[in-house]
Amino acid sequence: MAGATASGGCQKIRGVQLHELLESKHNVLFDCDGVIWNGETAVAGAPEVVRALKQRGKRVFFVTNNCTRPRQSYVQKFARLGFADVDEQEIFSSAYCSAAYLRDVATFSGKVFAIGCPGVHAELRDAGISVVEEEEDGPDVNISNCALDPDVRAVLVGYDEKFSFMKLAKACCYLRDSECLFLATDPDPWHPLRGGRITPGSGSLTAALETASSRKATVIGKPSRFMFECIASQFDLDPESSLMVGDRLETDIVFGVNCGLSTVLTLTGVSTFEQAQVYKDSDEPKKKDFVPDYVVESIADFLEALEE
Ligand SMILES: [Mg+2]
Repeated sequence: MAGATASGGCQKIRGVQLHELLESKHNVLFDCDGVIWNGETAVAGAPEVVRALKQRGKRVFFVTNNCTRPRQSYVQKFARLGFADVDEQEIFSSAYCSAAYLRDVATFSGKVFAIGCPGVHAELRDAGISVVEEEEDGPDVNISNCALDPDVRAVLVGYDEKFSFMKLAKACCYLRDSECLFLATDPDPWHPLRGGRITPGSGSLTAALETASSRKATVIGKPSRFMFECIASQFDLDPESSLMVGDRLETDIVFGVNCGLSTVLTLTGVSTFEQAQVYKDSDEPKKKDFVPDYVVESIADFLEALEE
């Protein structure tokens, strides 16, 4: 069974079967939130799993839709949580990939109006892309009289805790120009917080702007293929020898399917085994894209499997 898609998918594996799967893959792509950490707590055993995979000559990449931090900040977080050997080049966030898309694919010139956390602005600047500086609008400023930058050629929407009516309104005005690119870092609708609370994700902010502008954003993050193409272009990745490990069926697993990768759902995050089975049992063919090939309780199971 090594390397092959499990019959029907959604197969719980550990031990020898998981060992064979890992042996058959040269590249392992991990989502971060809900897979290798939850907030500021590493998933038990995750640092050891990353180290063990690398010691066995595997290439490890981190593919996250979380656009709040620049890559350098992720390196610090990895170190803080006990991942001693993670390099900036191994981290592909939706903020980094959005900047790479504008620089390398869109042959973009002009300025970006970016709705997003500091991670989005930092990655754009690191890629040499001009960004409209955020300024506090005075009390008498409204959408009828605010200044609009004539050099804006793209609007990028990411997770933004300071999202406002004025940001939405300005973005709408820029998108009136059909030549203005409309990008979204990722489609995540919400993110879990402690205590059962949730926070709206980039996808919900993008939906507001799509409604207001009557346009559809180009999504850069998972499940779009671009993040894999971004890694593949830098590291010569082959889909057949790559494994995607994620906790969210609608983004991580669909991403893996879209890119031709084998997929593993880990149950330490958002999606449950029961949800995966509902998709598996669905009569709608499109829902099959949400079904992982394999399911593990935690990536900690990788450690035991590697030692088999
Ligand atoms: Mg996740």
